[in-house]
Amino acid sequence: MMKRKPVIGVTSSLIDDRITVHKSNIYAISDAGGAAFVLPNSSDRSTVLQLASMMDGLLLTGGGDIDPDLFGEEPHPMLGEITPERDAFETAMIEEMLRLDKPILGLCRGCQMLNVAIGGDMYQDIYSQHEGNLLQHKQNAPVRHGSHWIEIEEHSLLHRIMNERRIRVNSFHHQAVRNIGSGFTASAVSGDGIIEAIESKRHRFALGVQWHPEHMTTSDPHSGKLFQAFVDACGK
Ligand code: MN
Repeated sequence: MMKRKPVIGVTSSLIDDRITVHKSNIYAISDAGGAAFVLPNSSDRSTVLQLASMMDGLLLTGGGDIDPDLFGEEPHPMLGEITPERDAFETAMIEEMLRLDKPILGLCRGCQMLNVAIGGDMYQDIYSQHEGNLLQHKQNAPVRHGSHWIEIEEHSLLHRIMNERRIRVNSFHHQAVRNIGSGFTASAVSGDGIIEAIESKRHRFALGVQWHPEHMTTSDPHSGKLFQAFVDACGK
């Protein structure tokens, strides 16, 4: 008999009225044994609840900036393009998946979105709002290249997955998590103090990473491990 694959909803971007998602997100899930489908940015509450009830896991993909109104701030001059429809859908979806204690993996923007949905806040632009000298977090190197190191918190979920305290990750962000929301904790930081991963202390699997492992699966064994751990958690 064919084994049932974990069903994983993948969030989408809205660009010029088109729903888009980079295929690497879908392939990374398929390669780890999951069945992925692309989620709408629906504003209908009952649609969100019904989709969440069908899903075994939620992948929050990367994308543009997040509306600062969600954490009570006015837009900073360096804020990029925002998509309020997407922000609202993802917030509702995260809340419902956490309530059901179903696994969530957030990538880049998805890490920030996860934090904002649980009451945290963020830097709208690290280069103008973060103290001290920063690394290059918008790398010019190819997307497959891990450009900066991160230090992983001992005994964290991320540590158990990677089985390493330091790994190299790619970096394509100018925003970042600032204060972490309640019940979550930092699971990795970069050398300049930017939070590079967060995870829930209460939920089975709710993890956000500030990098793009979906683009590193062919160049970096850690990225495959991350998707495998996520899909396995979705299957339990
Ligand atoms: Mn970074």
